[in-house]
Amino acid sequence: MSSWKSCLLAASLILFSAFAAAAPPAAKPAAAAPDDDVRLYALDCGHLDFKSLGMFSDTGEYDGRPGRIVAPCYLIRHPAGWMLWDTGLGDRIAQSPQGVDLLDGLVHEQVTVTLVSQLNALGLAPKDIRVIAFSHLHEDHVGNANLFAKTSTWIVNDKELAWAKSDPSPLRVDPALFSGVDSADVKHIDGDIDVFGDGRVIILKAPGHTPGHQVLLLRLKKSGAVLLTGGLYPLRESRGQRRVPAINVSRADTLASMERIEKIAANQKARVVAQGDPADFAALPKFPAYLN
Ligand SMILES: [Zn+2]
Repeated sequence: MSSWKSCLLAASLILFSAFAAAAPPAAKPAAAAPDDDVRLYALDCGHLDFKSLGMFSDTGEYDGRPGRIVAPCYLIRHPAGWMLWDTGLGDRIAQSPQGVDLLDGLVHEQVTVTLVSQLNALGLAPKDIRVIAFSHLHEDHVGNANLFAKTSTWIVNDKELAWAKSDPSPLRVDPALFSGVDSADVKHIDGDIDVFGDGRVIILKAPGHTPGHQVLLLRLKKSGAVLLTGGLYPLRESRGQRRVPAINVSRADTLASMERIEKIAANQKARVVAQGDPADFAALPKFPAYLN
């Protein structure tokens, strides 16, 4: 087992422990120390235009209101390797430059720049991504997953996978988009996990929107803590108003997950990113700039 894999340990007990002790002072280095910062890149992996955003609240506030939801991919550089959090709508949609209609025209999806081209801009190819993980397995988060079937380790919540593979498929789930899970190197989890073992990239269990939904906590040297909240908050105002999507598995679990994530956000003084909100995406550094 490689050393980084051995670091993939359940992290609840060490989640909020202090960082590792500083290294002892070294003899005067001849060159600058290598940059070991964790970096967060926000990649444009498509958007969805809705004639009505009604499916994003089960109490009616968005009914009849048109609007856009974005589907970013988040690329994380860690000294132990590259990680991808969510994989967007899928580069295949870019082959239709005007986009594609879904659900009898209620939704229009468009990908104007491919994930692969954005990886290439950093000198990367899919094979260079060491680990991928998903907030959840709705199709707007797994569109490019199979690009990583041969060479990346997939971190997958078991409850999420069992639900997403159930027959008939749940609404907004297309198992063909993540069929690579059957041949990939899969790290199965059922809760929180400290991805690289140093407390800087942590997957947090936050079920409700889907059974194994999860949120990513990053602790960046300059920018501080960042929470990428997946489908928990499709829109920024969903967060303020604690609005539960109509497309949701457990209302009670979603509210409990919101409570958990908000307490962590307060304790960590975290920047909370509503992953679907165009304004939250635009507020992040424009690729290839990054947070660190
Ligand atoms: Zn979703």
